[in-house]
Amino acid sequence: MRTEQFPLTRRHLLRGAAAASLAASLAPPALAKAPMLNTQAPSFYRFRIGAFEATIVSDGPLALGDPAQSFVGAPKDEISRMLTDSFLAPDKIVVEQNALVVNTGDKLVLFDTGLGTSKLFGPTAGRLKASLVSAGINPADIDAIVLSHAHPDHCWGIMGEGGARNFPNAQIHMAQADFDFWTDEAKLGIDGLKAFIAGTRDHLLPNRERIVAVKDGQEVLPGIQAMAAPGHTVGHTVYVIASQGKSFLYIADTTHHPVLSYQQPRIEFVYDTDAKQGVATRLRILDMLATDRLPFLAYHLPWPGIGHVAKAGDGFRFVPEPMQMAL
Ligand SMILES: [Zn+2]
Repeated sequence: MRTEQFPLTRRHLLRGAAAASLAASLAPPALAKAPMLNTQAPSFYRFRIGAFEATIVSDGPLALGDPAQSFVGAPKDEISRMLTDSFLAPDKIVVEQNALVVNTGDKLVLFDTGLGTSKLFGPTAGRLKASLVSAGINPADIDAIVLSHAHPDHCWGIMGEGGARNFPNAQIHMAQADFDFWTDEAKLGIDGLKAFIAGTRDHLLPNRERIVAVKDGQEVLPGIQAMAAPGHTVGHTVYVIASQGKSFLYIADTTHHPVLSYQQPRIEFVYDTDAKQGVATRLRILDMLATDRLPFLAYHLPWPGIGHVAKAGDGFRFVPEPMQMAL
């Protein structure tokens, strides 16, 4: 029955298409002809966490290239199969950059700043300021930048072209361990780190007096608590944002991919400073989120990157939250 039904349906569709193209060739030309616009919708998404107003703003996508160059510890054909089964290209990985703004009513807080003007990961990043403006947020109104870690795609948006501050009124909160690691002059001699260290020094050192060290468990700002999540970097930190009994986690780079990092959370990510510790942290945080059914934002997941995680076999399943088109 099945085998007959499909070709019949398909033949019917093809016949329909042929009829439509015949009709089109007989129809008079259309009177209106709109140009192709070739622009995307403004990249901001607003939601509430209790009494706080949250806005996700995009810095634009990052092309990571061949999955085998970023995700290791599983056979290449296994990774290809996982991607293909999820209708994703098996030969190239593209991740998003979802930065978060939280207005607590008292403070306007930006979590991570995007890649800034650097084209290190291709031409599509660096849109954060434009996204903020389209969301109605003036960069000068940001009171606090809270960094998850000091990688380029998270802190190179601090300074603009020519060394001007993009967020001139913001204090910067970050783990001391990441400041020390990623501004360490001695690491400028290490091939794999040189470009990251040099660039990060340009963004953090001029702001040394504005930087406040974040400690594990500390309430960084009212309603925003730090939770150490090391592995991706030595000081990688996630944040619990809580208001009126609602809790939400910003998990930053605990995960990097909606399929690979969840279905097989033990796959290692090559940009992790300590990939084994990164796996342990990923398992711990995803387990906590699944057990407590907490909503969260992951910086690199498909736009806008918010959802829940459920346990599935010996891994997890990311469940995106439906976008709400009315607040
Ligand atoms: Zn990142």
